[in-house]
Amino acid sequence: MSSAARRNFRFDIYRVSPHNAHMPFTKLGLSPAVLDGVKAMGYVDPTPIQLRAIPLIMAGRDVIGSAQTGTGKTAAFALPILSKMDKHEPQPRLLVLEPTRELAAQVETAVRDFARFTNLRVAVIFGGVGYGKQNDALRNGVDILVATPGRLLDHLQQGNCRLDRVQHVVLDEADRMLDMGFLPDVRRILEKCPRQRQTSLFSATIPPAIETLIQWAMHNPETVEIGARRTPAETVKHVIYPVSDTQKTDLLLALLDRVHYESVIIFCRTKHGADRVAQLLKRSNHAVAVLHSNRTQSEREQALRGFRDGRFEVLVATDIAARGLDISNVSHVINYDVPHHPEDYIHRIGRTGRAEASGDAFTLMVAEDSNHVFAIERFISQKIQRVKLENFNYTYTALFEADKPGQTGGYTGSARAVRVHGGYHFAPGRRRRR
Ligand code: AMP
Repeated sequence: MSSAARRNFRFDIYRVSPHNAHMPFTKLGLSPAVLDGVKAMGYVDPTPIQLRAIPLIMAGRDVIGSAQTGTGKTAAFALPILSKMDKHEPQPRLLVLEPTRELAAQVETAVRDFARFTNLRVAVIFGGVGYGKQNDALRNGVDILVATPGRLLDHLQQGNCRLDRVQHVVLDEADRMLDMGFLPDVRRILEKCPRQRQTSLFSATIPPAIETLIQWAMHNPETVEIGARRTPAETVKHVIYPVSDTQKTDLLLALLDRVHYESVIIFCRTKHGADRVAQLLKRSNHAVAVLHSNRTQSEREQALRGFRDGRFEVLVATDIAARGLDISNVSHVINYDVPHHPEDYIHRIGRTGRAEASGDAFTLMVAEDSNHVFAIERFISQKIQRVKLENFNYTYTALFEADKPGQTGGYTGSARAVRVHGGYHFAPGRRRRR
């Protein structure tokens, strides 16, 4: 495996069971050109979802993958579909719908990489940028469209492209598309595709609205369930800092001051909250980038690029903007707000501690977060350690009482409650870049 692939590789998720541990990609019926692409990516063994989904898609089945980003699902759908597409034609035959521009861009890059030894053409379509480049690509003829729903509908309405030759549709992160209100657009787009097609749908959860979409849009689908992660990676040390509402920002600043971090992502629940935290950190001389869906496309790209290459030490992000992004080498995650969906907790703290590196995740908890924290603890069947920052001038909050022995709040799992005295000691070693 190349060092780049190794960096991105999440060992905890990709552990393949012993009986198929050495089943190489060559046995999956992929085309020689696609296999060359896989080889060039440095992939050696397929991930579990690839092992399960590739044969089904190769056999022409509709597939529901209940798997999260980070499991290798892009290759799971792209490799078999590209293998079936053969050579270039002027009309799109594969349509991939994504909830956010960043995911669309990321998936387009991956598909382009897998297809580099074919003559298939790929275009990415999303809003927030001009139409010129997208129109040019569509006019020149593309085989594969990776798109967010709104802008694709605009192009369809303007007659810039047609979907009547589409043979393969992939609805990626379908639950996020639902959350973002895109399902009516998705339906409108699907109505413009031939009914005779192969449809794949990926979603971490299958709420009733997605179930209805499945019944309407898919034909006798096979479900491939790759155990959604419910346990945080062992390489991530995660703790909760109870704090009163009025001291939340002070505690955040104090944490950033005392922690030796290389790069940190701070998650906020709302765009407005993310902007506010970013302003606060800028005023305290931190190099900060912000990622949320109200920012322009070029701002979002600049933020990501700057964070990846180390110009910004802190990235303040909302869940939707950060979901699924392949950002490696994050030493710390701070949940400024407790996430409302328990699976987002796993997802957020999974940004750190990747590929054998260790990471720390801190969650600030105020009184009104209690129920959400209990929901997370039930979800992961673990009590998360409550800790205090040493020498921080805390004002009283009832949360400090809630954690006394014998009072484990709403947590009903089997793990023991852990009461920590004397605060949390940060591991030495990481030098802070300034
Ligand atoms: P995804 O879930 O598609 O976003 O993929 C997450 C990361 O895993 C990406 O950086 C992929 O390049 C990488 N990846 C996917 N499949 C494999 C594989 N079979 N071997 C190694 N890395 C992989």
